[in-house]
Amino acid sequence: MSVLLEMIQNLLSRPVTILYPREKVPVPDTFRGRVAISDDKCIGCSKCSLICPAQVIRMIEGPRDVEFKGKNIARKKRPQVKLFQCIRCGLCERHCPTGAIHLAPEFGGSGTDREVVIT
Ligand code: SF4
Ligand code: SF4
Repeated sequence: MSVLLEMIQNLLSRPVTILYPREKVPVPDTFRGRVAISDDKCIGCSKCSLICPAQVIRMIEGPRDVEFKGKNIARKKRPQVKLFQCIRCGLCERHCPTGAIHLAPEFGGSGTDREVVIT
């Protein structure tokens, strides 16, 4: 009898699951999601690569002219992150002088910026 009652209750109640990824659960501002990089802000200083405790950021060729503190810098390298080995500690974000690397409020590792973040 209790099983039948539970079945009826479930039929009449709203689903507890969501249609991810079409629907997303809201996350707090401090949520540590996947690493993202704004390439146009990166000056190639390598700080993120040096500070990363998991050693998943390597500097690769990435020449580009970047403006920093009113000066034009001829950048030579840019960071590339092994996304699925990242422990999302946030140290790269904390130490980046330009705010180019940050933890985005995204759960998944998929993205369209393959040139910046790799698996
Ligand atoms: S969040 Fe931490 S582990 Fe991930 S890339 Fe940044 S410094 Fe490395
Ligand atoms: S992402 Fe930030 S810390 Fe890393 S190389 Fe670029 S400017 Fe430097």
